[in-house]
Amino acid sequence: MSTALDLLHSVFGYNAFRGAQAEIIEHVARGGDALVLMPTGGGKSLCYQIPALLRPGCGIVVSPLIALMQDQVDALLQLGVRAAFLNSSQDFDSALATEKRLLNGELDLLYVAPERLLSERFLALLERLDREGRIALFAIDEAHCVSQWGHDFRPEYIQLSALHERHPGVPRIALTATADELTRSEIRSRLGLTAARVFISSFDRPNIRYTIVERDNPRRQLLDFLADHRGEAGIVYCLSRKKVDETATWLNQQGILALPYHAGMDGGQRRQHQQRFVREDGVVMVATIAFGMGIDKPDVRFVAHLDLPKSLEAYYQETGRAGRDGEAAEAWMTYGLNDVVIHRNRIDESAAPDEQKRIERQKLDAMLAYCEAAGCRREVLLNYFGEATSACNNCDTCLEPPQLWDGTIAAQKLLSAALRSGQRFGSGHLIDILRGKRTEKILQCQHDQLPTFGVGQELDEPGWRSVARQLLAAGLLHADAQRYGGLTLTAAARPLLKGETTLMLRRAAARLKPVKTTRGK
Ligand code: ADP
Repeated sequence: MSTALDLLHSVFGYNAFRGAQAEIIEHVARGGDALVLMPTGGGKSLCYQIPALLRPGCGIVVSPLIALMQDQVDALLQLGVRAAFLNSSQDFDSALATEKRLLNGELDLLYVAPERLLSERFLALLERLDREGRIALFAIDEAHCVSQWGHDFRPEYIQLSALHERHPGVPRIALTATADELTRSEIRSRLGLTAARVFISSFDRPNIRYTIVERDNPRRQLLDFLADHRGEAGIVYCLSRKKVDETATWLNQQGILALPYHAGMDGGQRRQHQQRFVREDGVVMVATIAFGMGIDKPDVRFVAHLDLPKSLEAYYQETGRAGRDGEAAEAWMTYGLNDVVIHRNRIDESAAPDEQKRIERQKLDAMLAYCEAAGCRREVLLNYFGEATSACNNCDTCLEPPQLWDGTIAAQKLLSAALRSGQRFGSGHLIDILRGKRTEKILQCQHDQLPTFGVGQELDEPGWRSVARQLLAAGLLHADAQRYGGLTLTAAARPLLKGETTLMLRRAAARLKPVKTTRGK
């Protein structure tokens, strides 16, 4: 009988297992359930492919990535593995033919879209196979999609718990590359994996350099960044479709080969852009978050964010698409106060239940704290995923540590300007008060009469914006959607305002020079 290692050599052509692969494969091949957390590029696929080949019957792989099933199946066919897929992109006849092969025992691995798997017809088919002991395992890929509070919720995933109820004897392996503690426990409870063994690999991606710059002129900043990455493939993420289109057009005008990608484009064009990105050299993909999950392109050299992602999970997942080949890569982002206000407003105004809003706010706060970190970014990122580490020497804050200064008085001034103007105004107006600008709005509101008017000459505008962001990140200020994003004080601001505590702040990040990637580091 072949062993896992035989198959690794003979079918996949690799010498040795990586990380926890061997242990996971052995556990699942013996019939155990598993939850596997492994970063992108870590080698999750083998963790279910080899056990499926070792066990009798066909392995059923649930994957939301219809666009990629074909590629995955093609790759397996090349290796001589009898693989197929079932999803909505297929015509009736070819689906029927695949079902027939499944029933005839002619398949080792079958990739199925969740809605397809949950159809009455397919469930009946599974019943029959299971009675005959011919389901090797269920693999649930991108398992974080089951999390309602995660960044990529797919309602069909919730119903996958039916697999456990209907087929208690078939081992299940759920896999994901991003899940904070909350998402992990959600995956386990929703998929009935509470008794499953959990395999957590290190989430560190040491070859990725993390850099965040304060946004002042984002187009120029992006161009400067791209100047260090001429001819390299990368992804530029934007929040809105409109911004994707505009940015892609503009980059092309600047002589950079850029293609747009978002859910508003027609399917054919999206596929074509995706293929060009994967197959050609040096294409910059300007995209919304609709792009990227499962894209198997090892030499993506950078991921740039022009807008703040809504959580560290999303950020980690998106930046993780860079440098899968292990070579030096860069994760770069511009961010500004406005991002925070936009996200806050979106959360506050959504129709979601309060509990969900609370969690989304927490996730946003963690994202913000990461942006404003004075210490190593990698430490903040990995700590968020429950991993302890030390300073990395490969992020902007390690390479050029931000200077800290005692911001107690500045913070008090800003908080008091917010308080005295009725907690209804955004940072721009508050900064105008502090800097003593007699704008129309200031005069109209008679804010030139406030005791805080003009008391903030010691900092320039970017300096004050940085203070405001850090107060938001530290949870002393809150952007209130009910007050149109007006900054309100939280209870935590009181001790500072009363002089009972002090506050160290980092100098505005814009003063730091952008770091350059050193290839092959
Ligand atoms: P993930 O799904 O975790 O992002 P993949 O399963 O796609 O990762 O694997 C990433 C890359 O690493 C693939 O090109 C795969 O063939 C390769 N790989 C996986 N396991 C091994 C191994 N043990 N030895 C060498 N290469 C491997």
